[in-house]
Amino acid sequence: MGENPKIVVLGAGLAGIGAATKLLSLGFKDVTIIEASGVAGGRIAKACLGTSWVDTGAQWIHGASEANPVYSLLQQQGLLEDVVTEEGTELVFHSKGHRLSEYLASHVYEAGEGIMRQQHRGNPGKNIGDYYAEKSLGLANNLRSSGEAKQEDILNILSLVGKSLLIDIGAPALNSVSLDSWQYYTNMGEDLNIEGKMFLLTEKLLGDFPKERLLLRKAVLKINWDGCFSGDESRIYPVCIECENGDKFLCDHVVITVSLGCLKAAPPTMFDPLLPEDKRETIEKLGFGCINKIFLQYEEAFWERDVESISLLWENETPASLSTDATQWQRNIQLFTVMRPREKFGHVLIGWCSGNVARHIETLTEAQLSAAITCNFRMFMSNPCIPCPKRVLRTQWHSEAFIRGAYTYIPAGVDAVIMDKLAHPLSSRKSPTEDLQVLFAGEATMKNLYGTVQGALLSGYREAERLSLHYGRPAPASTPSSSPLAT
Ligand SMILES: Cc1cc2nc3c(=O)[nH]c(=O)nc-3n(C[C@H](O)[C@H](O)[C@H](O)COP(=O)(O)OP(=O)(O)OC[C@H]3O[C@@H](n4cnc5c(N)ncnc54)[C@H](O)[C@@H]3O)c2cc1C
Repeated sequence: MGENPKIVVLGAGLAGIGAATKLLSLGFKDVTIIEASGVAGGRIAKACLGTSWVDTGAQWIHGASEANPVYSLLQQQGLLEDVVTEEGTELVFHSKGHRLSEYLASHVYEAGEGIMRQQHRGNPGKNIGDYYAEKSLGLANNLRSSGEAKQEDILNILSLVGKSLLIDIGAPALNSVSLDSWQYYTNMGEDLNIEGKMFLLTEKLLGDFPKERLLLRKAVLKINWDGCFSGDESRIYPVCIECENGDKFLCDHVVITVSLGCLKAAPPTMFDPLLPEDKRETIEKLGFGCINKIFLQYEEAFWERDVESISLLWENETPASLSTDATQWQRNIQLFTVMRPREKFGHVLIGWCSGNVARHIETLTEAQLSAAITCNFRMFMSNPCIPCPKRVLRTQWHSEAFIRGAYTYIPAGVDAVIMDKLAHPLSSRKSPTEDLQVLFAGEATMKNLYGTVQGALLSGYREAERLSLHYGRPAPASTPSSSPLAT
């Protein structure tokens, strides 16, 4: 292999693109990406709605600061100039058919968010659901005794905070999520909604990447490693990758970037020899949640121009009763954001749902979704004239065979430090020296940034740098650095 090892990157999501582009920038020449679907981007994806493109996957920069390579790149390219940053009005309606006072809703909502904003550690086994229910009750008692509002309304609003958190996590219930989920989290700053622009990131990152080295529509079925496979020029390679269409790729190193959902769903025999037991255990223990978006396009808006979101509050819902019960899916599509600016997107709402509801709505027709959501809007807003959307576009991330959900979460009783085990590379078991045959990147391998776009990108950089160090090629000072190597 000498100075020119053959490297295959499996998956063209942000981790794969990050790994491949970084490897080229570090001087590796023989780098190929193999991707199952017909487009690059993975969980960064777009769809056409009317006359504009919308992001069907990621749309928020979690941490809009120079520390975040996603923010920096889009900023440098001038792509963030027309992003709407002004806060709009947040409308909250009650199932009894009235609107809640904006002051009360935002005041209580912020207090609820405050409960969750702390970074917890040292609570092994505890879950967010119990903690949030207990703290919410205390908060509701305080606010009620200071004469802010009825306890029932306060708990109702706090339940919305829990619902929104479930969308951030994707898990079926807050009770199944570790309270210490973000103990290693790197906070890069405020969130920024860049809807309709995130997909440009893929195009920008792949700008100079040689087209012939990005092989699309090649689903990998099997990874044989720790072997001796004869290739051209009588070279022997330790790794042989087999695709569904019969193609085979021999290489010295493969960087696996498929989602945790795909790793969970893959038969153990996808790897031959099998993955080591601790890696299989890690894949099993970590959670892979789901969220979906429902784009609702209207002829005319039934909300004012300055509205940013519409939330629907069910009577009797409290932080202790939160669920994503699929049989109650009509009640569980409660949070809608307005796509802004109107001049670009027209009159479009995005309905958000998570966990079991997100999985269930993938089985419904868009007409069913339209009918249920319209019925709720009419009831909550006491307005029978609210129109049906002219078009509904619903994402199906769980059914995407090469994704199988949205992002990783940490179940109660699990410490995110096990993500380091997932990131740990595999070397030949026959040789005493490490040869890094199989490497792992992807958001699920980043205990400090899982579930994010920058986490995926930085995990790819990390593995490229790992190979670079292996070949004694330290990263040039000018190259943006990744997170420390997971061991
Ligand atoms: C609906 C949704 C909303 C989100 N919102 C945000 C957000 O606002 N902000 C944020 O920071 N993050 C968000 N995320 C998370 C973010 O999108 C992901 O963390 C990130 O894109 C993951 O990148 P990745 O490269 O690790 O994995 P992926 O994007 O899943 O890439 C893996 C690639 O591997 C390919 N692949 C899988 N199996 C095979 C196979 N057998 N053979 C060949 N190729 C294969 C897949 O097709 C895919 O292209 C969201 C995700 C979803 C789904």
